[in-house]
Amino acid sequence: MTLRERLRGLARVQSDASPVVSLYLDTRWTDEQQRARARVFLDGALDRARRGPPAATVRGDLDWVEGQARARIDQTADPGAAGLVVVACGPAGLREAFAVEGVVPNVLALDARPFLRPLADVAEAHPPALVAIVDGERARLLPLRVDGAPPEEVTLESAVEGHHRRGGWALLAQSRYANRLENQRSRHLDAVAEAIGSLADVEQIVLAGEPGVIAALQARLPRPLAARVAGTMRAAQHEPAGALAARARVLLQDAERREERESLDAVLVEAAKGGRATAGVAATLDAVGRDAVHRLYVLERYHEPGTACDHCGALVTPVRSHCPLCGQATRTVELGEAMVERVLRGGGTVETVAEHAALGAVGGVAARLRWAV
Ligand SMILES: [Zn+2]
Repeated sequence: MTLRERLRGLARVQSDASPVVSLYLDTRWTDEQQRARARVFLDGALDRARRGPPAATVRGDLDWVEGQARARIDQTADPGAAGLVVVACGPAGLREAFAVEGVVPNVLALDARPFLRPLADVAEAHPPALVAIVDGERARLLPLRVDGAPPEEVTLESAVEGHHRRGGWALLAQSRYANRLENQRSRHLDAVAEAIGSLADVEQIVLAGEPGVIAALQARLPRPLAARVAGTMRAAQHEPAGALAARARVLLQDAERREERESLDAVLVEAAKGGRATAGVAATLDAVGRDAVHRLYVLERYHEPGTACDHCGALVTPVRSHCPLCGQATRTVELGEAMVERVLRGGGTVETVAEHAALGAVGGVAARLRWAV
């Protein structure tokens, strides 16, 4: 299951009888102190949650969540992943614990729905990616797993004939030989391009190797595949998978930040022109309420109380006891999280933005729309 599929599944969960417990834990432990900090956070957060309104079902979920978190904290081996996500709601039949290769904050939340903002952020920042380490006769394909597990790699090898040079041959023979090798290299690179193209799930590709070979391979990629190449890097076949994956992740992260900034700039321009985009809380809420959002951009620090109507689906600000559209009773929500959930449920995507002056100036939220509203 990809992270996006998991996210979409969780966005459909709603439990009014007993709250959903969502725990995020930053597991980037380089020393014992950080591990100790995680313990302190967990103890404090669970203690506060257990002092809340007693419900037998929540107790069971809190115990299970605690068990999952403690097992990870007490694990002496490096967990390998940057974060842990645990979601539980016994009455809804929901119990999931999984690692993610993306930075998450330490948070424990109890609500009628799973808390999804940090997970949406990780899913958006880490689309399914592949590193291809290619030379003239070999290619290693290394899918980057978002759960931080060691990559499972595949080696493609062409059987190169006549590879051993014999001494004393004439120049003609040597050039024939070189020609033949060149043809073989061409066929090898064509085959590598085809193998990469067969992996439909992969959204981002990093090509690694000597620049000459990479350029030759890139020239052979069909256009839709070439568009998925997020970057290239020098690499040697003998480099271990873990080190290559780490270098590729840094490269992808930089590409992702650049892409996010450019697409957000374009959305704000489009919104100002009255096109298929919105900027600001009121316009974006309206679009979210109509399920018109293709991609939501929300500043990390954006939090605002508002009103959700379960009857007609309206999301509005400020807080009101009754829906301004249909007159039914409403519930108070944090609008950032409410918008994220709603967009994910509708099949849209979400970008959490750390810093962006123009987005801050319009109120912290903007959206690319499926159609003009
Ligand atoms: Zn309503």
